[in-house]
Amino acid sequence: MTTTASPARDDQDRTAAEVAWDIGSLVDGKGAAGVDELLDEAATRADALASYRGRLGELDVGRLAELMHELGHISELIGRAGSYAGLWFAVDTSDPPRGALMARTEERATAIGSELLFIDLEWAALSDEHVAPLLADDALGFCRHHLAAARRYRPHLLTEPVERVLADKAVTGSSAWARLFSELTSTIEVEVGSETMPLEEGLSRLASPDRDVREQSAAGVTAALAPGLRTRAFVFNTLLADKASEDRLRHYDGWLASRNLDNEASDESVDALVQAVVGRYDIPQRWYRLKAQLLGLDQLADFDRMASVAKSEDVFGWGHASELVLDAYRSFSPELADIARKFIDEHWIDAPMRPGKRPGAFCAYTVPSHHPYVLLNWTARRRDVLTLAHELGHGLHAYLARGQGVFHQSTPLTLAETASVFGETVTFGRLLAETEDPADRLALLAESLEGQIATVFRQIAMNRFEDAVHTDRRERGELSVERFGELWADAQVEMLGDSVEVTPGYRTWWSYVPHFIATPGYVYAYAYGQLLALSVYREYEERGTEFVPSYLELLSRGGSASPEELGQVVGVDLADPGFWVGGLAIVDAQLAAAEQAAKDAGRL
Ligand SMILES: [Zn+2]
Repeated sequence: MTTTASPARDDQDRTAAEVAWDIGSLVDGKGAAGVDELLDEAATRADALASYRGRLGELDVGRLAELMHELGHISELIGRAGSYAGLWFAVDTSDPPRGALMARTEERATAIGSELLFIDLEWAALSDEHVAPLLADDALGFCRHHLAAARRYRPHLLTEPVERVLADKAVTGSSAWARLFSELTSTIEVEVGSETMPLEEGLSRLASPDRDVREQSAAGVTAALAPGLRTRAFVFNTLLADKASEDRLRHYDGWLASRNLDNEASDESVDALVQAVVGRYDIPQRWYRLKAQLLGLDQLADFDRMASVAKSEDVFGWGHASELVLDAYRSFSPELADIARKFIDEHWIDAPMRPGKRPGAFCAYTVPSHHPYVLLNWTARRRDVLTLAHELGHGLHAYLARGQGVFHQSTPLTLAETASVFGETVTFGRLLAETEDPADRLALLAESLEGQIATVFRQIAMNRFEDAVHTDRRERGELSVERFGELWADAQVEMLGDSVEVTPGYRTWWSYVPHFIATPGYVYAYAYGQLLALSVYREYEERGTEFVPSYLELLSRGGSASPEELGQVVGVDLADPGFWVGGLAIVDAQLAAAEQAAKDAGRL
C-alpha cells in the first residue's frame, strides 16, 4: 500500500470537493446575458457577409483571406458562447435555465451556420486550377489545411442532380435500414435466471467474478439474440450492398477508402496499423492464458474475458493525485508540467461528483483566445488518477495548439488521443514505480492490459470481420446468417488462438454491434488513436530527452496538417508497420510485468 500519500501532505491540500472551475471569464462575467451578446454580434457579422454570396470565385487571395479571418472571428464568438452554455449545463443538467440556455445557443448557432453555408459550398465548387495558387499563398496559411481538407471529397462527388437524388433516397434507404436495426436491437431483453434486463445490462454481467453468473448471462444474451436474427442479417446484407454500389458510383477503391478519407488517414497507414496489430496477436493470447491461471481455469471461454482478476481498493487524495500527475509530466517536460499546474491552480478543472452533473470526464477545447477546461467525476480511485492525466493531456494539446487559431486548433479524430494517452502512459509508469506490493501491481497492470486489448486488439479483430463481410458481399453475394457467424468466429479465433474457447453461442454476437451498421469501417479508429499515441511514446523511450522539443512542436501544430504530415514532425512514418510495432512493444512490456507480478504475488 505504497500509493497513499503521507497524511501531513494530504491534510494541507485541497480536497477534490473544492475543485470547481471558473467559466465566467468566457463571457466577461456576464453569464447568460453575455452568451446572447456574443451570439448577437456573431449574427450581425454573419449578416454582413451576405454580400459575398455567389462571388467566392471572384475573390483574389487578399479578399479571400479577409473573408476567412472574419469567418474565424464569427466562429470564435459562437464557440465562446457555446462553450459557456455547454459547460454551465454540464455541471448541473437538471437545472432548467441551463438546459434552456444550451438549447437556445444551439439553435442560434445553427441558424448562423446555415446562413454561412454558401461559403463552404462555393469553395468546394471551385476548380482545382482556380484554387491551387490561392492555397499556395501564405496569406491563407492560417486556414490552408482547413480549406484543402474541405475539398477532399471532390473527386468522389457526383453531379448536383445525382447528389440530390442520392440524399433524398437515403432517407428511405440506408438511413431507414440503420434506424430499423437500432430499433430492433434497442428492444432486445435478456433473461438471466428469473430476471429480465436490457441487453446492455446482460452484457455487463459478464464482468461478474462468479463464473456461473457469467455463463448464465452469456447464454441469456445468446438466447435473446436469436429472435430476429434473420431480419438483422437482412438489414446488414442490404447495407453492405448499398455501400458497395455507392462506393462504385463514387469511385472509391475498396470498402474502407471513404472512411479513411473521413479520418484523413491514408489507406497505407491503416494497412500498416492492421498488419502490425495482427502480427502481435500473441499478446492477447498470452494475457488470456495468464488470466485463465489467475481465475483457476484450464482455458477461458469467450464469456470469461471480461471477468475481473484483481481488485485494489487504494484511495487517492486529490492533493496526492494531482502532485503525482504533475510529477509525471515534469519528468517528461517541465514546460508541460507548468501548463498542467495552471489547470489545477487557476480553476480550469471541475472535479467533484455532484447531483445532476454530467457523468464521465472530458476536456473542452473552448476557443483559441481562451483556455481549455477539464471536467471529472472524482471518486478517488486509481482509475481517476489516470483519467486526470488523460484529460490533462487533451487540455495540454488544446492549450499548446491555441496559436493555430480556430481553423487548426483541433486535430482529426485519429490524432485526438495523442497527448492524452501519452500523458496517461507517463503517469501509469509513475504509479507502477511507486507500487511495490505485487498484488497491487498486478491489479494496476491487469486494468491497463484489459484496456489496451479492448481498444487495440479487439477493435482490429472487428475490423477484420468487417473486411471479410464487405469483401464477401462484393465477391460472392448475399451472406447467410451462418456465413456471418462463420466470419465472426474466424476473426475472433484468429486473434485468440487456443487461449479462449469461442463457444457456438458466440457466433451470433456480431448481430447487435451498432457501428457495423451505422458507421461502417469506424472501429479501427479507436485502435489507430490509441496505438499512435503509444508508438509516439515508444519513440520517446528510445530517443530520450532529444525527442521532447519535437513532441511539443507536434502538439502545438494542432490540426494544421494531415496525421501523416504531423507524424513527420516527430520523425515517424505512419505508413511503416515498424512504427506501429513500437507501441505494441509497450503493451508487451506491461504484459511481461504482469506475468512477473502474478508470480511474485503467488497467484501462479
Ligand atoms: Zn481521450
